[in-house]
This record gives sequence, C-alpha cells and structure tokens, in this order.
Amino acid sequence: MIRFASLGSGSKGNATLIESGVKESDTRILLDCGFSTKEVEIRLAKHQRCASSIDAIVITHEHADHINGVGRLARKYNIPVWLTAGTWHKCRDSNFPDTHFIDSHSDFEINDLRLHPFPVPHDAREPCQFVFSDGNSQLGIATDLGSITPHVIAKLNNVDALLLECNYDGEMLHNGIYPQKLKDRVSGNKGHLDNKQATQLLQNIKLDKLKHIVGMHVSEKNNTQEYATAALCVGMNCSENEVSLASQVDGFAWRELA
Ligand SMILES: [Zn+2]
Ligand SMILES: [Zn+2]
Repeated sequence: MIRFASLGSGSKGNATLIESGVKESDTRILLDCGFSTKEVEIRLAKHQRCASSIDAIVITHEHADHINGVGRLARKYNIPVWLTAGTWHKCRDSNFPDTHFIDSHSDFEINDLRLHPFPVPHDAREPCQFVFSDGNSQLGIATDLGSITPHVIAKLNNVDALLLECNYDGEMLHNGIYPQKLKDRVSGNKGHLDNKQATQLLQNIKLDKLKHIVGMHVSEKNNTQEYATAALCVGMNCSENEVSLASQVDGFAWRELA
C-alpha cells in the first residue's frame, strides 16, 4: 500500500509525504521541504504525523520553495537526505547529517519503497521528479517542469496516481503583474507547466489505471481553481468531482493506493 498527502503546494513552499506499509508505516518519505521547521511540524501534526518518524527527505531541486527547511529539519531530527549531486552543490544549506547522492536515471530503494527518478526540463542545476512504487502500485509526481519530454511521458505512463503541476493560465500570466523577465522565466521551456500543458500531458499518457489525479503548484496570482480543475477534466475526459487541487495552505489530505 502507498499512502500520500501534501503539506502544502505552491510558490511559497512545497512538501509531500509518501508512505508505504499496511498499518504502522514501514517507510515514510518527505519529498521536498520548503517550509520552516516550526511550520512543517505544525503541518505534519495536521496530517497526524511527527517529524521524528520521517525516514528520509528526498529533494527534487534546489529552488527555495522546495529546500528552505530541509537542512534544519534534517539536523534537528537526524534525517538522511537523498538528492542529485547537482542539486546538493546548489543548496545554500547543504550540511545534512547523512547525504545520499542519486543518479536521476537510476532507480533506488528506501526501505520498502522503490523510487524511479527522471530528469525534467527546469531552470535548476540537476532537477528530477519521481515515480514511487511499492511493487503493486505507482505514484507519479511531476511539478516544476517547463515542457513535456518523451521521457517524462514514458515515466508517467500507466501510473495509479498522479500529482501534476497546473501552474498558470497563459493569458492570466501574460496580462498579470509579474515583470516581463519573470513571465518569460515561468512560461519558458525550463519554467513551469501551464494548464494547457497539463491537459496535453494527460492526453499523451495511458490513464487506464489512474485512480487519483491532483493538480499541484497552482499559482495564486496567475491561475484560478476553476481553470486548473477544467484543465485536468479535459485531459482526463472526466467530471469535476473526479479531480482535485492541492492548496498552498493545506496541501491535501491522505489518500491511498491499496
Ligand atoms: Zn517550485
Ligand atoms: Zn522550481
């Protein structure tokens, strides 16, 4: 069984929990931590968990909304950290108690969870995203990528659950308050996925097994809940009550793949 929940998702901070195990969890992984130690402790408590029970922190890339709290949390609770060498070199605070370097093309295991990393086009040193597997089901996570590559599609094909970036609406970004340079960065090939790209990605992968789809990293300034939800529905060819969005404040509650 895989359980997963988000502690918060968006440009102000990201953190996702992935667990395996039947009753008492065998493995508990925190993917990214863009929140302060105090904030992540509060958010973990809201999801009925405590930081001392985290087995590993896995990092996707070095942007502040993904790593701001990693160093302090890892040191306070003595949690090992998994990341690419490129990401480690770019971390402002990389003094982890125990560092494991990963290759973004090589699978690895943390206890009974198998992680399948894949590189993504994003403006960081060596960014990757992940598919988590317990041997039965697969959870795919893809945020912080500016374009859809054949490799990304191959990795997300036939997953059982998918957490997919729906960052912005093209027109809202274009007409919005961001300076032009930032607009170009966000919409560039190494920026973020907009709603249309999220739809396209869903239309290009096999969805036969998909039981959970959650829109992630939704911009508070350049997107609306309605637009992001509609993008997922079109991509899935399903109704609104079959899709949901992670929020910056609450993330989303526990879900499970049996
Ligand atoms: Zn981000
Ligand atoms: Zn990023």
